[in-house]
Amino acid sequence: MKNIQLGWVGLGNMGNPMVLNLLKAGFNVSVFNRTKEKEAPLLAAGAKSANSLQDLMETCDVILTMLSNDAAVKEVFEGPSGLLSKANSGKTIINMSTVSPETSRYLNTICNQHQVAFIDAPVSGSVKPAQDGTLVILVGATTENFKVAKPIFDVLGKIAIHVGEPGVASSAKLAINYLLGLNLQGIAETVLFAEKNGVSKEDMLNIINQGACGNGITNIKTPAILSDSYPAAFALKHLVKDLGLAKAAGLDSPLIHPLYDSYAAAEKEGLGDQDVMAIISSLKSK
Ligand code: NAP
Repeated sequence: MKNIQLGWVGLGNMGNPMVLNLLKAGFNVSVFNRTKEKEAPLLAAGAKSANSLQDLMETCDVILTMLSNDAAVKEVFEGPSGLLSKANSGKTIINMSTVSPETSRYLNTICNQHQVAFIDAPVSGSVKPAQDGTLVILVGATTENFKVAKPIFDVLGKIAIHVGEPGVASSAKLAINYLLGLNLQGIAETVLFAEKNGVSKEDMLNIINQGACGNGITNIKTPAILSDSYPAAFALKHLVKDLGLAKAAGLDSPLIHPLYDSYAAAEKEGLGDQDVMAIISSLKSK
């Protein structure tokens, strides 16, 4: 498996550490990023730079994409010089970006029309799990395609959960990010309510983390809340996108609408490129 040539498109907060892990594990990886400077640390670690998406598709066996949103992924797949712009039958493309279930099913269809295998593989976990190779990978694929990709997923994540055909994994991803949004909104509202009533945020976060309400995400976000500093691990604008996709995919529960409105307001206030925990700054100002 390690003799195959991997291609990677999208070297943002997630793509960069994920490729580094593949290189460390001994995979040959060619990379392509729209902003070329972001390739530098990976080239220094042994990756090759592809001149174009077509070049990447021609020279690689399995191509992975980790891009912002549905529009970016569609442009990379089916743009005039995109991955599918020339005949390349027999290849496999794995999309790890968070997109709508509808987009995943569409990508599967157009890949199959080109005799290219498609795997829908969004991830749960942010930059730290991406660095540590402990992501939870949600996989929508045929059983045969899942088997092909499993050695790659074993490097990137602590588990790859095969949930069904392409599209189903994207639905699972939107569901888990809804829970993430609820958690972060809940932490923010709780800490601000406590502070207004004389409980320091240090004490309140200690109460949360020491008790049954503490969990992985409360522990991860505690240092940022204490230092009131929110450099993006998971940019707030991406959660607005994901909650919007969940609504579009039919989520109509009591909390999704106010939750979406709250994060969308924070994005409008200029917090979109901050970490998602910056929701607390938006709520504090109200
Ligand atoms: P990011 O840091 O914003 O990086 C986005 C990447 O997409 C960059 O490489 C960017 O290229 C590229 N891109 C955007 N539009 C493009 C276009 N039209 N054509 C070509 N490339 C384009 O995002 P990220 O945090 O790595 O997240 C990537 C995906 O993973 C998103 O779908 C996100 O929802 C999901 N995700 C993120 C996290 C997290 O914690 N960050 C966790 C789980 C899932 P440039 O460098 O040129 O801008």
